[in-house]
Amino acid sequence: MTQETAEYAQPLTVLSEDETIFRDSVRAFADARVRPLVREMDEHAKLPRTLIDQLFELGVMGIEVPETYGGAGGRFFHSVLAVEELSRVDPSVGVLVDVQNTLVINALLRWGNDDVKRRYLPKLASSIVGAYALSEAGAGSDAFALTSRAREEGDGFVISGRKLWITNGNEADLFIVFATVNPEAGYRGITAFLIERGFDGFTVGKKEDKLGIRASSTCELVLEDCRVPRANVLGEVGKGYKVAIETLNEGRIGIGAQMIGLAKGALEHAVKYTKERKQFGKPIADFQGVQFQLARAAVEVESAKLAVYNAARLRDAGRPFLTEAAICKILSSEVAESVSSLAVNLFGGNGFVKEYPVEKLYRDAKIGQIYEGTSNLQLLTIAKQILS
Ligand SMILES: Cc1cc2nc3c(=O)[nH]c(=O)nc-3n(C[C@H](O)[C@H](O)[C@H](O)COP(=O)(O)OP(=O)(O)OC[C@H]3O[C@@H](n4cnc5c(N)ncnc54)[C@H](O)[C@@H]3O)c2cc1C
Repeated sequence: MTQETAEYAQPLTVLSEDETIFRDSVRAFADARVRPLVREMDEHAKLPRTLIDQLFELGVMGIEVPETYGGAGGRFFHSVLAVEELSRVDPSVGVLVDVQNTLVINALLRWGNDDVKRRYLPKLASSIVGAYALSEAGAGSDAFALTSRAREEGDGFVISGRKLWITNGNEADLFIVFATVNPEAGYRGITAFLIERGFDGFTVGKKEDKLGIRASSTCELVLEDCRVPRANVLGEVGKGYKVAIETLNEGRIGIGAQMIGLAKGALEHAVKYTKERKQFGKPIADFQGVQFQLARAAVEVESAKLAVYNAARLRDAGRPFLTEAAICKILSSEVAESVSSLAVNLFGGNGFVKEYPVEKLYRDAKIGQIYEGTSNLQLLTIAKQILS
Protein backbone atom coordinates (compact mmCIF):
# COMPACT_ATOMS: atom_id res chain seq x y z
CA MET A 1 0.00 0.00 0.00
CA THR A 2 2.74 2.44 1.00
CA GLN A 3 4.72 1.67 -2.11
CA GLU A 4 1.65 2.06 -4.32
CA THR A 5 0.86 5.37 -2.69
CA ALA A 6 4.39 6.57 -3.35
CA GLU A 7 3.87 5.88 -7.05
CA TYR A 8 0.80 8.09 -7.28
CA ALA A 9 1.29 11.29 -9.21
CA GLN A 10 0.99 14.51 -7.19
CA PRO A 11 -2.46 16.11 -7.14
CA LEU A 12 -2.51 18.82 -9.84
CA THR A 13 -3.11 21.71 -7.48
CA VAL A 14 -0.47 20.75 -4.91
CA LEU A 15 2.47 23.08 -5.39
CA SER A 16 6.09 22.20 -4.75
CA GLU A 17 7.95 24.21 -2.14
CA ASP A 18 9.54 26.50 -4.71
CA GLU A 19 6.21 26.97 -6.54
CA THR A 20 4.56 27.90 -3.23
CA ILE A 21 7.24 30.47 -2.38
CA PHE A 22 7.03 31.92 -5.89
CA ARG A 23 3.20 32.04 -5.88
CA ASP A 24 3.13 33.68 -2.45
CA SER A 25 5.63 36.36 -3.45
CA VAL A 26 3.63 37.26 -6.58
CA ARG A 27 0.38 37.25 -4.57
CA ALA A 28 1.84 39.56 -1.94
CA PHE A 29 3.14 41.88 -4.67
CA ALA A 30 -0.22 41.94 -6.45
CA ASP A 31 -2.08 42.81 -3.26
CA ALA A 32 0.41 45.42 -2.03
CA ARG A 33 1.62 47.09 -5.22
CA VAL A 34 -0.97 46.45 -7.93
CA ARG A 35 -4.28 46.64 -6.07
CA PRO A 36 -3.99 50.31 -5.06
CA LEU A 37 -3.45 51.27 -8.72
CA VAL A 38 -6.18 49.19 -10.40
CA ARG A 39 -8.90 51.80 -10.73
CA GLU A 40 -6.58 54.59 -11.85
CA MET A 41 -4.88 52.37 -14.43
CA ASP A 42 -8.27 51.35 -15.83
CA GLU A 43 -9.48 54.97 -15.98
CA HIS A 44 -6.33 56.28 -17.62
CA ALA A 45 -5.86 53.17 -19.76
CA LYS A 46 -2.20 53.06 -18.82
CA LEU A 47 0.30 50.93 -16.90
CA PRO A 48 2.82 53.13 -15.05
CA ARG A 49 6.45 52.42 -15.97
CA THR A 50 7.30 52.28 -12.26
CA LEU A 51 5.00 49.27 -11.91
CA ILE A 52 6.63 47.57 -14.90
CA ASP A 53 10.06 48.19 -13.32
CA GLN A 54 8.80 46.56 -10.12
CA LEU A 55 7.64 43.53 -12.12
CA PHE A 56 11.20 43.18 -13.44
CA GLU A 57 12.56 43.45 -9.89
CA LEU A 58 10.09 40.81 -8.73
CA GLY A 59 11.54 38.44 -11.36
CA VAL A 60 8.34 37.78 -13.31
CA MET A 61 9.44 39.29 -16.63
CA GLY A 62 11.94 36.55 -17.46
CA ILE A 63 10.55 33.52 -15.68
CA GLU A 64 11.83 30.82 -18.03
CA VAL A 65 14.98 32.67 -19.06
CA PRO A 66 17.94 30.55 -17.85
CA GLU A 67 19.97 32.02 -15.01
CA THR A 68 23.00 32.24 -17.34
CA TYR A 69 21.07 34.91 -19.27
CA GLY A 70 19.99 36.70 -16.10
CA GLY A 71 16.53 35.13 -15.80
CA ALA A 72 14.75 33.22 -13.07
CA GLY A 73 15.38 29.77 -14.60
CA GLY A 74 11.81 28.70 -13.89
CA ARG A 75 9.32 26.53 -15.75
CA PHE A 76 6.21 27.28 -17.77
CA PHE A 77 4.11 26.44 -14.71
CA HIS A 78 5.72 29.33 -12.83
CA SER A 79 4.53 31.66 -15.59
CA VAL A 80 1.02 30.28 -15.16
CA LEU A 81 1.18 30.95 -11.41
CA ALA A 82 2.44 34.51 -11.95
CA VAL A 83 -0.24 35.33 -14.55
CA GLU A 84 -2.95 33.82 -12.34
CA GLU A 85 -1.92 35.75 -9.22
CA LEU A 86 -1.52 39.08 -11.02
CA SER A 87 -4.83 38.63 -12.87
CA ARG A 88 -6.62 37.90 -9.61
CA VAL A 89 -5.97 41.58 -8.89
CA ASP A 90 -5.67 43.08 -12.38
CA PRO A 91 -5.90 41.06 -15.62
CA SER A 92 -4.21 43.94 -17.52
CA VAL A 93 -1.04 43.41 -15.51
CA GLY A 94 -1.54 39.66 -15.95
CA VAL A 95 -1.53 39.90 -19.74
CA LEU A 96 1.60 42.07 -19.84
CA VAL A 97 3.47 39.36 -17.96
CA ASP A 98 1.75 36.64 -19.97
CA VAL A 99 2.80 37.96 -23.39
CA GLN A 100 6.34 38.60 -22.15
CA ASN A 101 6.77 35.04 -20.89
CA THR A 102 4.46 32.63 -22.70
CA LEU A 103 4.78 34.20 -26.15
CA VAL A 104 7.90 36.34 -26.56
CA ILE A 105 10.46 34.65 -24.30
CA ASN A 106 8.99 31.25 -25.05
CA ALA A 107 9.47 31.79 -28.80
CA LEU A 108 13.05 33.04 -28.32
CA LEU A 109 13.96 30.09 -26.10
CA ARG A 110 12.64 27.59 -28.61
CA TRP A 111 13.51 29.21 -31.94
CA GLY A 112 16.33 31.65 -31.20
CA ASN A 113 19.92 30.71 -32.04
CA ASP A 114 22.72 31.43 -29.54
CA ASP A 115 23.31 34.90 -30.98
CA VAL A 116 19.63 35.88 -30.65
CA LYS A 117 19.44 34.49 -27.13
CA ARG A 118 22.61 36.28 -26.08
CA ARG A 119 21.48 39.60 -27.53
CA TYR A 120 17.88 39.66 -26.31
CA LEU A 121 17.21 37.33 -23.37
CA PRO A 122 19.25 39.28 -20.77
CA LYS A 123 17.44 42.49 -21.75
CA LEU A 124 14.03 40.82 -21.70
CA ALA A 125 14.71 39.44 -18.25
CA SER A 126 15.93 42.75 -16.84
CA SER A 127 14.43 45.79 -18.56
CA ILE A 128 12.64 45.52 -21.90
CA VAL A 129 9.08 44.49 -22.65
CA GLY A 130 8.29 42.28 -25.64
CA ALA A 131 5.28 42.06 -27.97
CA TYR A 132 4.04 39.44 -30.39
CA ALA A 133 2.63 40.68 -33.70
CA LEU A 134 0.76 38.21 -35.84
CA SER A 135 -2.74 39.67 -36.42
CA GLU A 136 -3.63 42.07 -39.20
CA ALA A 137 -6.88 43.75 -40.30
CA GLY A 138 -7.61 40.94 -42.75
CA ALA A 139 -5.92 38.13 -40.82
CA GLY A 140 -7.37 37.29 -37.39
CA SER A 141 -8.68 33.75 -36.94
CA ASP A 142 -7.18 33.07 -40.37
CA ALA A 143 -3.82 34.38 -39.16
CA PHE A 144 -1.83 32.92 -42.03
CA ALA A 145 -3.72 35.13 -44.50
CA LEU A 146 -1.35 37.88 -43.35
CA THR A 147 -0.06 40.23 -46.05
CA SER A 148 2.87 42.01 -44.38
CA ARG A 149 5.64 41.53 -46.93
CA ALA A 150 9.38 40.93 -46.33
CA ARG A 151 11.70 41.35 -49.33
CA GLU A 152 15.31 40.18 -49.26
CA GLU A 153 17.75 43.02 -49.78
CA GLY A 154 21.50 42.93 -49.13
CA ASP A 155 22.18 41.12 -45.89
CA GLY A 156 18.68 41.43 -44.58
CA PHE A 157 15.02 42.11 -45.28
CA VAL A 158 12.86 45.12 -45.93
CA ILE A 159 9.38 44.76 -44.42
CA SER A 160 6.19 46.67 -45.19
CA GLY A 161 2.73 46.13 -43.74
CA ARG A 162 0.45 46.84 -40.80
CA LYS A 163 -0.18 44.81 -37.70
CA LEU A 164 -3.30 45.22 -35.61
CA TRP A 165 -4.29 44.53 -31.99
CA ILE A 166 -0.76 44.19 -30.63
CA THR A 167 -0.67 43.78 -26.84
CA ASN A 168 2.14 45.69 -25.07
CA GLY A 169 2.55 47.84 -28.22
CA ASN A 170 3.01 50.97 -26.10
CA GLU A 171 5.51 49.51 -23.65
CA ALA A 172 7.47 47.10 -25.84
CA ASP A 173 10.98 47.62 -27.18
CA LEU A 174 11.18 44.27 -28.96
CA PHE A 175 8.53 42.93 -31.34
CA ILE A 176 8.22 39.49 -32.88
CA VAL A 177 6.66 40.38 -36.24
CA PHE A 178 5.36 37.83 -38.72
CA ALA A 179 5.59 38.66 -42.44
CA THR A 180 5.69 36.66 -45.65
CA VAL A 181 8.75 36.39 -47.87
CA ASN A 182 6.64 34.81 -50.62
CA PRO A 183 2.87 35.40 -50.77
CA GLU A 184 2.48 32.68 -53.45
CA ALA A 185 3.85 30.08 -51.03
CA GLY A 186 0.93 30.52 -48.61
CA TYR A 187 1.78 29.70 -45.02
CA ARG A 188 5.19 28.39 -46.15
CA GLY A 189 6.30 31.97 -46.83
CA ILE A 190 5.65 33.18 -43.31
CA THR A 191 8.75 34.22 -41.39
CA ALA A 192 9.24 35.57 -37.86
CA PHE A 193 11.41 38.68 -37.43
CA LEU A 194 12.77 40.38 -34.33
CA ILE A 195 12.21 44.10 -34.67
CA GLU A 196 13.49 46.70 -32.23
CA ARG A 197 11.38 49.79 -31.60
CA GLY A 198 14.16 52.01 -32.97
CA PHE A 199 14.55 50.26 -36.35
CA ASP A 200 14.10 52.60 -39.34
CA GLY A 201 10.65 52.32 -40.89
CA PHE A 202 8.97 50.94 -37.76
CA THR A 203 6.37 52.89 -35.80
CA VAL A 204 3.76 52.08 -33.19
CA GLY A 205 0.43 53.49 -34.40
CA LYS A 206 -3.04 53.98 -32.95
CA LYS A 207 -3.83 52.62 -29.49
CA GLU A 208 -7.26 51.01 -29.15
CA ASP A 209 -9.88 52.32 -26.70
CA LYS A 210 -11.26 49.09 -25.22
CA LEU A 211 -14.13 47.55 -23.24
CA GLY A 212 -11.83 45.74 -20.81
CA ILE A 213 -8.18 45.17 -19.87
CA ARG A 214 -7.98 48.89 -20.58
CA ALA A 215 -4.60 49.39 -18.93
CA SER A 216 -3.05 46.85 -21.28
CA SER A 217 -2.07 48.67 -24.47
CA THR A 218 -3.38 47.26 -27.76
CA CYS A 219 -1.77 48.99 -30.73
CA GLU A 220 -1.38 49.07 -34.44
CA LEU A 221 2.16 48.64 -35.79
CA VAL A 222 3.19 50.31 -39.02
CA LEU A 223 6.11 48.99 -41.07
CA GLU A 224 7.20 51.13 -43.99
CA ASP A 225 10.31 49.72 -45.64
CA CYS A 226 11.52 48.62 -42.22
CA ARG A 227 15.07 47.27 -42.50
CA VAL A 228 15.76 44.12 -40.50
CA PRO A 229 19.17 42.40 -40.46
CA ARG A 230 19.24 38.71 -41.42
CA ALA A 231 20.52 37.95 -37.92
CA ASN A 232 17.07 39.02 -36.66
CA VAL A 233 15.17 36.25 -38.39
CA LEU A 234 13.72 34.11 -35.58
CA GLY A 235 13.97 30.45 -36.56
CA GLU A 236 14.18 29.73 -40.29
CA VAL A 237 12.97 31.73 -43.26
CA GLY A 238 9.59 30.27 -44.29
CA LYS A 239 9.12 28.49 -40.94
CA GLY A 240 7.40 31.36 -39.14
CA TYR A 241 4.12 29.46 -39.23
CA LYS A 242 5.68 26.88 -36.92
CA VAL A 243 6.90 29.59 -34.55
CA ALA A 244 3.37 31.06 -34.50
CA ILE A 245 1.45 27.81 -34.07
CA GLU A 246 3.68 26.30 -31.43
CA THR A 247 3.97 29.48 -29.38
CA LEU A 248 0.25 30.18 -29.47
CA ASN A 249 -0.56 26.60 -28.44
CA GLU A 250 1.32 27.31 -25.23
CA GLY A 251 0.26 30.94 -24.97
CA ARG A 252 -3.38 30.04 -24.67
CA ILE A 253 -2.64 28.18 -21.42
CA GLY A 254 -1.39 31.57 -20.17
CA ILE A 255 -4.73 33.13 -21.13
CA GLY A 256 -6.38 30.30 -19.21
CA ALA A 257 -4.29 31.36 -16.20
CA GLN A 258 -5.36 34.98 -16.68
CA MET A 259 -9.01 33.91 -16.72
CA ILE A 260 -8.85 31.66 -13.62
CA GLY A 261 -7.07 34.45 -11.75
CA LEU A 262 -9.81 36.86 -12.78
CA ALA A 263 -12.57 34.42 -11.76
CA LYS A 264 -10.91 33.77 -8.42
CA GLY A 265 -10.57 37.51 -7.76
CA ALA A 266 -14.26 38.06 -8.58
CA LEU A 267 -15.32 35.21 -6.30
CA GLU A 268 -13.21 36.55 -3.42
CA HIS A 269 -14.83 39.97 -3.79
CA ALA A 270 -18.29 38.36 -3.86
CA VAL A 271 -17.64 36.27 -0.74
CA LYS A 272 -16.35 39.26 1.23
CA TYR A 273 -19.16 41.55 0.14
CA THR A 274 -21.99 39.10 0.80
CA LYS A 275 -20.69 38.51 4.34
CA GLU A 276 -20.73 42.26 5.00
CA ARG A 277 -23.84 43.48 3.20
CA LYS A 278 -26.99 43.16 5.29
CA GLN A 279 -30.58 42.95 4.04
CA PHE A 280 -33.65 41.64 5.87
CA GLY A 281 -31.65 42.00 9.09
CA LYS A 282 -28.76 39.66 8.23
CA PRO A 283 -25.76 39.30 5.91
CA ILE A 284 -26.92 38.32 2.43
CA ALA A 285 -24.41 35.41 2.59
CA ASP A 286 -26.75 33.87 5.18
CA PHE A 287 -29.39 33.30 2.52
CA GLN A 288 -29.15 29.83 1.07
CA GLY A 289 -29.98 31.18 -2.39
CA VAL A 290 -26.81 33.28 -2.26
CA GLN A 291 -24.75 30.47 -0.70
CA PHE A 292 -25.67 28.14 -3.58
CA GLN A 293 -24.68 30.76 -6.14
CA LEU A 294 -21.29 31.18 -4.44
CA ALA A 295 -20.85 27.41 -4.17
CA ARG A 296 -21.66 27.00 -7.88
CA ALA A 297 -19.07 29.66 -8.70
CA ALA A 298 -16.49 27.81 -6.58
CA VAL A 299 -17.24 24.64 -8.57
CA GLU A 300 -16.63 26.51 -11.82
CA VAL A 301 -13.39 28.12 -10.62
CA GLU A 302 -11.98 24.82 -9.37
CA SER A 303 -12.81 22.95 -12.59
CA ALA A 304 -11.24 25.67 -14.75
CA LYS A 305 -8.17 25.73 -12.51
CA LEU A 306 -7.75 21.96 -12.86
CA ALA A 307 -7.95 22.27 -16.64
CA VAL A 308 -5.36 25.08 -16.74
CA TYR A 309 -2.95 23.39 -14.33
CA ASN A 310 -3.28 20.11 -16.19
CA ALA A 311 -2.43 21.72 -19.56
CA ALA A 312 0.52 23.59 -18.02
CA ARG A 313 1.91 20.54 -16.24
CA LEU A 314 1.51 18.43 -19.40
CA ARG A 315 3.51 21.06 -21.30
CA ASP A 316 6.28 21.05 -18.68
CA ALA A 317 6.33 17.24 -18.73
CA GLY A 318 6.93 17.31 -22.50
CA ARG A 319 3.65 15.51 -23.18
CA PRO A 320 1.02 16.40 -25.83
CA PHE A 321 -1.24 19.20 -24.57
CA LEU A 322 -2.89 20.74 -27.65
CA THR A 323 -6.45 19.64 -26.88
CA GLU A 324 -6.07 20.26 -23.16
CA ALA A 325 -4.84 23.81 -23.87
CA ALA A 326 -7.88 24.51 -26.07
CA ILE A 327 -10.19 23.03 -23.42
CA CYS A 328 -8.62 25.07 -20.63
CA LYS A 329 -8.94 28.32 -22.59
CA ILE A 330 -12.61 27.78 -23.45
CA LEU A 331 -13.54 26.67 -19.96
CA SER A 332 -11.62 29.32 -18.05
CA SER A 333 -12.84 32.21 -20.22
CA GLU A 334 -16.46 31.09 -19.85
CA VAL A 335 -16.00 30.68 -16.10
CA ALA A 336 -14.40 34.13 -15.84
CA GLU A 337 -17.40 35.67 -17.58
CA SER A 338 -20.02 33.82 -15.52
CA VAL A 339 -18.31 34.27 -12.12
CA SER A 340 -17.61 37.97 -12.68
CA SER A 341 -21.22 38.40 -13.84
CA LEU A 342 -22.44 36.71 -10.65
CA ALA A 343 -20.18 39.00 -8.60
CA VAL A 344 -21.80 42.04 -10.25
CA ASN A 345 -25.25 40.62 -9.40
CA LEU A 346 -24.34 39.91 -5.79
CA PHE A 347 -23.00 43.45 -5.32
CA GLY A 348 -26.44 44.72 -6.40
CA GLY A 349 -26.34 48.39 -7.47
CA ASN A 350 -22.79 48.59 -6.17
CA GLY A 351 -21.82 45.96 -8.74
CA PHE A 352 -22.72 48.36 -11.51
CA VAL A 353 -20.54 51.29 -10.46
CA LYS A 354 -16.83 51.92 -10.79
CA GLU A 355 -16.34 52.62 -7.09
CA TYR A 356 -16.48 48.84 -6.56
CA PRO A 357 -14.07 46.41 -8.22
CA VAL A 358 -16.33 43.85 -9.90
CA GLU A 359 -17.72 45.71 -12.93
CA LYS A 360 -14.14 46.01 -14.18
CA LEU A 361 -13.51 42.28 -13.85
CA TYR A 362 -16.75 41.65 -15.76
CA ARG A 363 -15.52 43.90 -18.59
CA ASP A 364 -12.04 42.33 -18.47
CA ALA A 365 -13.44 38.79 -18.73
CA LYS A 366 -14.77 39.22 -22.26
CA ILE A 367 -11.35 39.25 -23.91
CA GLY A 368 -10.64 35.66 -22.84
CA GLN A 369 -13.05 34.38 -25.49
CA ILE A 370 -11.43 36.45 -28.24
CA TYR A 371 -7.64 36.66 -28.22
CA GLU A 372 -5.09 33.89 -28.85
CA GLY A 373 -7.79 32.08 -30.82
CA THR A 374 -11.50 32.73 -30.34
CA SER A 375 -13.65 30.13 -28.57
CA ASN A 376 -14.87 28.89 -31.96
CA LEU A 377 -11.28 28.27 -33.03
CA GLN A 378 -10.64 26.33 -29.81
CA LEU A 379 -13.75 24.27 -30.53
CA LEU A 380 -12.35 23.54 -34.01
CA THR A 381 -9.16 22.19 -32.41
CA ILE A 382 -11.10 20.01 -29.96
CA ALA A 383 -13.52 18.80 -32.66
CA LYS A 384 -10.63 17.79 -34.94
CA GLN A 385 -9.14 15.78 -32.09
CA ILE A 386 -12.31 13.93 -31.09
CA LEU A 387 -13.31 13.22 -34.70
CA SER A 388 -9.89 12.02 -35.85
C1 LIG B 1 -7.35 43.24 -26.68
C2 LIG B 1 -6.74 42.42 -27.77
C3 LIG B 1 -5.41 42.07 -27.71
C4 LIG B 1 -4.83 41.32 -28.75
N1 LIG B 1 -3.49 41.05 -28.71
C5 LIG B 1 -2.89 40.48 -29.79
C6 LIG B 1 -1.46 40.36 -29.86
O1 LIG B 1 -0.73 40.71 -28.93
N2 LIG B 1 -0.91 39.84 -31.00
C7 LIG B 1 -1.67 39.44 -32.06
O2 LIG B 1 -1.12 39.00 -33.05
N3 LIG B 1 -3.04 39.54 -32.02
C8 LIG B 1 -3.66 40.06 -30.93
N4 LIG B 1 -5.03 40.19 -30.88
C9 LIG B 1 -5.82 39.74 -32.02
C10 LIG B 1 -6.69 38.54 -31.69
O3 LIG B 1 -5.89 37.39 -31.57
C11 LIG B 1 -7.77 38.43 -32.76
O4 LIG B 1 -8.66 39.52 -32.56
C12 LIG B 1 -8.49 37.11 -32.72
O5 LIG B 1 -7.65 36.07 -33.13
C13 LIG B 1 -9.76 37.11 -33.59
O6 LIG B 1 -9.49 37.62 -34.86
P1 LIG B 1 -10.46 38.73 -35.49
O7 LIG B 1 -10.56 39.84 -34.51
O8 LIG B 1 -9.98 39.07 -36.85
O9 LIG B 1 -11.87 38.04 -35.57
P2 LIG B 1 -12.42 37.07 -36.80
O10 LIG B 1 -11.37 36.13 -37.15
O11 LIG B 1 -12.95 37.97 -37.86
O12 LIG B 1 -13.59 36.35 -36.07
C14 LIG B 1 -14.91 36.90 -35.94
C15 LIG B 1 -15.84 35.80 -35.46
O13 LIG B 1 -15.90 34.76 -36.45
C16 LIG B 1 -15.63 33.51 -35.86
N5 LIG B 1 -14.92 32.65 -36.82
C17 LIG B 1 -13.88 32.97 -37.61
N6 LIG B 1 -13.49 31.91 -38.32
C18 LIG B 1 -14.27 30.87 -37.94
C19 LIG B 1 -14.36 29.51 -38.30
N7 LIG B 1 -13.52 28.95 -39.17
N8 LIG B 1 -15.31 28.74 -37.71
C20 LIG B 1 -16.16 29.27 -36.80
N9 LIG B 1 -16.12 30.56 -36.42
C21 LIG B 1 -15.19 31.35 -36.99
C22 LIG B 1 -14.75 33.83 -34.64
O14 LIG B 1 -14.84 32.81 -33.66
C23 LIG B 1 -15.37 35.13 -34.17
O15 LIG B 1 -16.48 34.87 -33.33
C24 LIG B 1 -5.62 40.90 -29.84
C25 LIG B 1 -6.98 41.24 -29.88
C26 LIG B 1 -7.54 42.00 -28.88
C27 LIG B 1 -9.00 42.39 -28.99
